[in-house]
Amino acid sequence: MRKILLTDIDGVVLDWSSHFNNYLKEYHPDKKLMDPTTFAQAPDTAELIESYNKTAWIGFLETHKDSKQVLPEIKKAGWTIIGCTSMGTDKYANALRKMNIESHFPDVFSKVDIIPFMEPKNNWLSYYKDSDAVWVEDKISNAKAGADAGLNTYLMKHEYNAFLDDKRIKKVDNWRQIANSIL
Ligand SMILES: [Mg+2]
Repeated sequence: MRKILLTDIDGVVLDWSSHFNNYLKEYHPDKKLMDPTTFAQAPDTAELIESYNKTAWIGFLETHKDSKQVLPEIKKAGWTIIGCTSMGTDKYANALRKMNIESHFPDVFSKVDIIPFMEPKNNWLSYYKDSDAVWVEDKISNAKAGADAGLNTYLMKHEYNAFLDDKRIKKVDNWRQIANSIL
């Protein structure tokens, strides 16, 4: 078995939501974001998120739950870890993002691919089709795309996705549960 771990970043590796809600408190106190994977809640949410993703704030996210502890353990067990994030392609924001990830996870990621803002990950995942790789996401449509590509897919649980079911996808509360199942 090839030990390849593919992972989304926001809501999985980094705690995007808390940081974004802090940003809203400071600059848009009238707004609140419940579900970062959909824009159904307000028409201007996508615009707000897209511009936030280009601010200096994007360089200073904290980690999600136990990712900081467990991802290095998975790497140490011989896995290749590759990230994919649809944050948008502003080059300076992308550089900040990579610095932010490297500061929390030195030498853990083999690479982090950055695709256009909110672009579905189907194309990116198709490169790994039937590769036996593990795929971790919090957005159900991207998780399903991974399952469609034959990947061993996990959904990182949040309030906004815990009620969604797909029998091909394993729902987990944290990275320890993933490590216990793959190591
Ligand atoms: Mg995500």
